[in-house]
Amino acid sequence: MKKQGKSTTSVHGGGLKDPHGGASSPIYPSTAYKYVGVDKYYYPRYFNVPNQEAVENKIAELEGADSGMVFSSGMSAIMSIILGFLKSGDHLLLQQDIYGGTHDSVSKELARMGIEANFCPSDPESIEAGIRPNTRMIFIESPSNPLLKITDIRAIASIAKSQKLVSVIDNTFASPINQNPHALGIDIVMHSATKYLGGHSDISAGVASMSNDHRNIIRETSLHLGGNLDVQACWLLERSMKTLEVRVNRQSENALAIAEFLNNHPKVEAIYYPGLSDHPQHALAASQMSGFGGMLSFEVSGDPDKFVQLLNVVSPVMSLGGVESTITTPAQTSHARISPEQRAHLGIKDNLLRVSTGIEDADDLIEDFRQALDQI
Ligand SMILES: *Cc1c(COP(=O)(O)O)cnc(C)c1O
Repeated sequence: MKKQGKSTTSVHGGGLKDPHGGASSPIYPSTAYKYVGVDKYYYPRYFNVPNQEAVENKIAELEGADSGMVFSSGMSAIMSIILGFLKSGDHLLLQQDIYGGTHDSVSKELARMGIEANFCPSDPESIEAGIRPNTRMIFIESPSNPLLKITDIRAIASIAKSQKLVSVIDNTFASPINQNPHALGIDIVMHSATKYLGGHSDISAGVASMSNDHRNIIRETSLHLGGNLDVQACWLLERSMKTLEVRVNRQSENALAIAEFLNNHPKVEAIYYPGLSDHPQHALAASQMSGFGGMLSFEVSGDPDKFVQLLNVVSPVMSLGGVESTITTPAQTSHARISPEQRAHLGIKDNLLRVSTGIEDADDLIEDFRQALDQI
């Protein structure tokens, strides 16, 4: 793999050459391809048409992997990876601080198939203790949603290697710009491309990167599950990923500026951002991330619904990773489908707010938070 900067890879990695010399990738909308005298049957659901490969190669280069895959959503990527490797009687070990949708899907769907899954704290000792004779896969997420907990990626990868387990990480919050888990020993890296990779709150997609052997295993199951992404959306995603480095760096800078402001505010009861030097896991984060990302969360003293309605620039909408700053109440959104007891166990309070910083000017965002905090 050639060593170049991440912005250069974002722009030039993968993609398709236009035979007419155009600067952007052409779109090949065909779903029907010739079958006589060819050595490869092209079909969108086979995960092999040109615009899918354009995205797959870009994510593979950005993450430093042999190959990539693109799916119709982040959840499709997650379930295709899990079902590609696990069968009835196997066990999946996940860290407990994990995206609400992953928690919900794994708890409900895998049980019906006779696959055991359970959740444990993300420290290496708990993960190691959670491994059973029938464990096949360890699934982690760092930084985690919504409390920005950091998992020791190197330690988990080495535990998985020593026990011959497949290691998977949800790298959505960090993006490939701030964290490359393959270099830390992880087998499979996935992203909800609906978030930073799409970046404009207008594409639903998922991606993953892995070795060629692992891709073959996952692809076999994926083409049965049918979670392939339409080529028009593939083209749009590939186009959007060209600005990934520029967007994520600006979002990370904005998040740090906002976190520093909120850190000293009397109406903020707690703040969670791994880029703050007083974050308990700051050193661990710095050892495995090249930037701390655009996500942060905090507990506001006052009514969270009232607070979000006082904001003028930051919009209270679900989802994250777009160029516009957004804010959500995890207890009512991403973690609404898990029980209040479970939320309490995870430390997700009703007054917790999760911010996804956009690319606006930091001063305008800080001013927006200041005036809203003043009014509650
Ligand atoms: C959104 C999200 C997912 C799920 O992705 P979809 O594209 O909504 O299916 C998984 N993990 C994390 C961390 C997410 O934020």
